[in-house]
Amino acid sequence: MCQEFYILESDQENWSLQIHLCTVFINLHTHHPTLSPGILEVESVYFGQGKTPVAPLRSVGLHPWYLEGIGLEVAKSWLNEQAALPATIAIGESGLDKVCQTPWDLQVLAFQHCVEFSESAGKPLIIHCVRAFSEIIALKKDWKPRQTWIFHGFDKNIQTAARVLRAGCCLSFGAALFRENSHAAESLRATPADRFFLETDDAGISIKAIYERAAFLRGVELRELEEMVKGNLERVFEIGTDL
Ligand SMILES: [Zn+2]
Repeated sequence: MCQEFYILESDQENWSLQIHLCTVFINLHTHHPTLSPGILEVESVYFGQGKTPVAPLRSVGLHPWYLEGIGLEVAKSWLNEQAALPATIAIGESGLDKVCQTPWDLQVLAFQHCVEFSESAGKPLIIHCVRAFSEIIALKKDWKPRQTWIFHGFDKNIQTAARVLRAGCCLSFGAALFRENSHAAESLRATPADRFFLETDDAGISIKAIYERAAFLRGVELRELEEMVKGNLERVFEIGTDL
């Protein structure tokens, strides 16, 4: 059985990417790629981080925590370059955070730029959201993006999950699934099979363990869960998989 995945073809005009996937756990959002066989990892890279990404696939964005003093014009030209790369399959993480110190207007401006790059590059948006669900949903209604917005590290209750899902977004779940009676666990159970992803973010836990936990919580076989997430990747990212 093949344990590698590789990019077969990419066409920057009409964004299309063919990937061979074999027995793959898909880690939608990680800051620490393991580069292990059989795992498809999307490395999160943000402007100003000064980090060379190591995973073959990545998401690039302007993180709300790291905006002050960066010079938005420089950041935009970096994002413009990065967004066009075939290895970049998503924009983000980007979003709004009411707990961090970054001025709100600056956060909104940077978020708007990321949405624009997501739309112009035709790549989904991975969202960092802290206590700003109403604001982000309102902006989505206003801006009417064509790309899918995915709220990563989702750990809110089923009412919030329902609002986000009604707005047409997807959810990505991670380490919070392991907390007893966590909101994340109840929201994962209530999320339709075609609307979620899994991730490790910066947690010191394997994506396989997160898949096993998610399968347990949803009451499905691991294999079935793998198929769900692969199907979601294919559909949302318009990636053809050869399984
Ligand atoms: Zn992250």
